[in-house]
Amino acid sequence: MKHLLDMTAEEFAAEMARLEQPKFRARQIGDWVWHRGVFDFAKMTNLPAAQRAGMAEQFSILSGKVMARADAADQVTKLLLAWPDGQQVETVLIPTAHHATACLSTQAGCAVGCSFCASGSQGLGRNLTGGEIVEQVLQLQAATGRKVTHAVFMGMGEPLANFEATLFAVRAIIDPGRLGISARHVTVSTVGLPKAIRNLAAQKLPITLAISLHAHNDALRRQLIPNAPADIESIVEAAEAFYESRHRELTLEYVLLAGVNDTNLCAEGLSRIARRLRCNVNIIRFNPAPGLPYQRPSGQATLRFAQRLEKAGVNVQIRKSRGAEADAACGQLRAKMGEQELQS
Ligand code: SAH
Ligand code: SF4
Repeated sequence: MKHLLDMTAEEFAAEMARLEQPKFRARQIGDWVWHRGVFDFAKMTNLPAAQRAGMAEQFSILSGKVMARADAADQVTKLLLAWPDGQQVETVLIPTAHHATACLSTQAGCAVGCSFCASGSQGLGRNLTGGEIVEQVLQLQAATGRKVTHAVFMGMGEPLANFEATLFAVRAIIDPGRLGISARHVTVSTVGLPKAIRNLAAQKLPITLAISLHAHNDALRRQLIPNAPADIESIVEAAEAFYESRHRELTLEYVLLAGVNDTNLCAEGLSRIARRLRCNVNIIRFNPAPGLPYQRPSGQATLRFAQRLEKAGVNVQIRKSRGAEADAACGQLRAKMGEQELQS
């Protein structure tokens, strides 16, 4: 059985040619899958009946099973998906009136082990395939009836540590024949792997790169990210190369941890880096989860930190905390399931 979602459009067209299907067949099936949300060949009514059964024997479409669903009062929906080998990931839909952002996972767990992240504390299960990353968008659309307009690679895992699958997923997401989401609405977030950032820059895709910095010097950063794959200077140099490749705006992400990385000195150091990169800073208030040894900063302290950056000439945003009831911080739904706290 071959996974349709793991194939490029050309590969699927080649499969159809191998099965001696007419030229339009690949596009016809693709239309059902990508645009109409139909994942069962038996329901593809413009396919000859014999072909419906034949295709179902050759190809699978969705492979994840929804194990749990959490809906928050603000419409945020989080799904826990299990793959056939038992590995599980989370995927989240964050809607507004006109947009719907899918927050996608790229790995089951994560090897980087940031000390404030629920995914990190679970270790790495395995890389997801490109199809498993893209499937999350289809599952979210099917579960909520909303059309995904934006995609952020900010779920479980480190996207650039699973480079090929992430690139495959980005291409499927922005391909007009598949999901057709504008590349300008796609953000890949990374803890900072310089070689992979340069590689991504070489693809010249007009996507946004978000770099999870969290600290202005290496000593503090190593405390927060013990297995940080690179020092800040190499990450910043690679980020400059990314910026120059497309002149796309970069974002620095900064999880604010009360009493740890929220001092004036931290704000000054961070603003120096942000000015050098001419990039925006996204402040994320720490989202507490069981077992994580940090405190969420108060709203006032967060505002003060943001204002210091602004005064230093940096464009700054405080990320809205949404989906608190849906356990929207990275890795939390799966952590809960592990503790069998989720009742559903
Ligand atoms: N591995 C990538 C992408 C996934 S994490 C990365 O680290 O960038 C996406 C974002 O969620 C990162 O900026 C990460 O620092 C943040 N995050 C992780 N745990 C968090 C928590 N408990 N509270 C707030 N933000 C968190
Ligand atoms: Fe991995 Fe990102 Fe979580 Fe760090 S914050 S452990 S890199 S998923």
